[in-house]
Parts: sequence; structure tokens; C-alpha cells
Amino acid sequence: MMLLKCSKCGVKNYLDPYPFWDFKGKTKCAGCDTIYALETDGGHLVGKVRAVSGKPTDPDVLLPGFADTSEFEPILGEGKTRPAPRARPDVYGKPKPVTRNLRGRLVSGRPLKPDELIGSRVRFIVEGKEP
Ligand SMILES: [Zn+2]
Repeated sequence: MMLLKCSKCGVKNYLDPYPFWDFKGKTKCAGCDTIYALETDGGHLVGKVRAVSGKPTDPDVLLPGFADTSEFEPILGEGKTRPAPRARPDVYGKPKPVTRNLRGRLVSGRPLKPDELIGSRVRFIVEGKEP
């Protein structure tokens, strides 16, 4: 975890290693919106972090993953810090659809419907058959 302590407002901006691992670009202070240019290599800072011009809403500004003040109060919210990256954004809160491989075997599932169950047990297990 790389730490960028803002020289203007003292807020500690935590640059999480995954998106900032090999990074060359801009981030911003979550406290005062100062834009910083930085370069990293293998999770380590290369050279100096310097304040540069730019708008906090510029699309090339990568927000810090977390930030807190010198009194350890977290700074949260839209445009301040970035939510954690998701491995699969397409299945967020939704069941996966059924997919089968080339041999017709199930490779992912979905919630069972009542007519696929006998009592509380799955029909193909009770009947001893593969779906
Ligand atoms: Zn700041």
C-alpha cells in the first residue's frame, strides 16, 4: 500500500497496489482535490510525486482507494475515493445463467424452480439421473 500524504491539507491518500502497481498518470487528494502526477513500478513510487494542474473530474485521474484525515476520519463518497474493483461486474447481485460446455454438462448454475424439486430435494438426484 502506497501512501500519498497531501502536502496542502495533510490528508493521507492510500493508493491500493492493484490499480497503482505499474502506473503512470494522475491521482487526486480526496481532501482538497489537488491533482498529483506520479509513476510507480512494481508497487513502488518512481521519482517524486508532484502537484500538477487539471480538473478532479478529468477521466485520466485515478482516485485513491481510501483516504483519511490526520485525525483518522475516513473520507468517503462520490468523486473522493474509488470503490474496490470487482472481479466480475456482470454478476453483481444477479444469479448466473445456466451454461453448458461442449459435452452438454452444466458448468454454471441458477436457482432451481419448484418443478425441478421433489420435496426439498433436487429431482435429478432423487431419480439418480444426470440433468
Ligand atoms: Zn489535500
